[in-house]
Amino acid sequence: MRTAEWQCTKCGVTNRKLVAPDQNRVEDQCVSCRTRHIVERDARPVFWHATPTP
Ligand SMILES: [Zn+2]
Repeated sequence: MRTAEWQCTKCGVTNRKLVAPDQNRVEDQCVSCRTRHIVERDARPVFWHATPTP
């Protein structure tokens, strides 16, 4: 497992989630405001790109 970090688009908090090594996309919920995001692997290995779910 590895750690994916992503920044909440709503409140700006940095979240962390454990993902499998072959996983490039995951759904997660902000620990602070509970907004759900789709989190996708970006060019940077640790910091992932987050998009709020509709
Ligand atoms: Zn948030």
